[in-house]
Amino acid sequence: MKAKRDTLLIGEIDRMLSWSAGQHREGRQLALVPTMGALHEGHLSLVRLAAEKADRVVVSIFVNPVQFGPREDFDRYPRDLERDLAACRSLGVDAVFAPSAADMYLPGHGVFVDEECWSKVMCGATREGHFRGVLTVVAKLFNIVRPDTAVFGRKDAQQAALVGKMIRDLNFPVTLVIAPTVRDRDGLALSSRNAYLKPEDRRRAGVVFKSLTEAAGQAGQPGISAGDICRVAREGLSREPGLQVEYLACVDAHTLQPVDAPAPGAMLAVAAWIGGVRLVDNIVLG
Ligand code: AMP
Repeated sequence: MKAKRDTLLIGEIDRMLSWSAGQHREGRQLALVPTMGALHEGHLSLVRLAAEKADRVVVSIFVNPVQFGPREDFDRYPRDLERDLAACRSLGVDAVFAPSAADMYLPGHGVFVDEECWSKVMCGATREGHFRGVLTVVAKLFNIVRPDTAVFGRKDAQQAALVGKMIRDLNFPVTLVIAPTVRDRDGLALSSRNAYLKPEDRRRAGVVFKSLTEAAGQAGQPGISAGDICRVAREGLSREPGLQVEYLACVDAHTLQPVDAPAPGAMLAVAAWIGGVRLVDNIVLG
């Protein structure tokens, strides 16, 4: 980051709007990193990338109730604003926007952003309404923060693809930047939800990335199909009996449509459960 500045904590929507307007009046470009907090090195890598793309960086911290299903982990989702603020300060983030749910969703809130196609497959097939909640809050954040650039992680590849589609379909004047996945030593993608894993399950969870890399390693073989790649990955995952695969898909990374061959641009994506914790990951093929 550039010269260190104090990190403003902004809780009110009006204050965020006027801060952003002031920055734009001064001719500055803004980059937004939307998060649900419990920041880890993956989030911080997005912040560093955002700082390369714009003059000022805003990190939003908001555990968005609308993207959680009734039986999901909204209540127990990890929250630690003080720790997150300290991390943002150490990176020289200009503003942290941490609104309340009551301000974000006024009584009677009834307008949502619903993508009709790509949001129904993969994670969307089991998490009904999840991407409707995600796209709605991202649209609201774009309208409140008014970023020129928004940085999202490749780890949540379906989310990133859907945000790109929303930007295109609804003409948001925002450039989307997708950042690579930051991993632990054994390859497990960092995630705020990894904190839920018991030590034994945490050890087992390493099989997810290991299986994806094994399968991706076959992608260059002549005549290999996407189905073959999925089979190799499934076999790898089956080595951990405590792990249940929710889906395993070989799709185009931009359109999320199934592909027949592991050509460049394809990705192998997985969601799996271990010890009651849902893990998502993906690897680009070809
Ligand atoms: P979350 O707080 O989980 O909603 O994530 C906020 C942003 O951080 C999303 O764009 C995620 O894709 C991204 N992110 C989460 N984990 C990682 C990771 N391990 N590496 C890179 N980006 C990540």
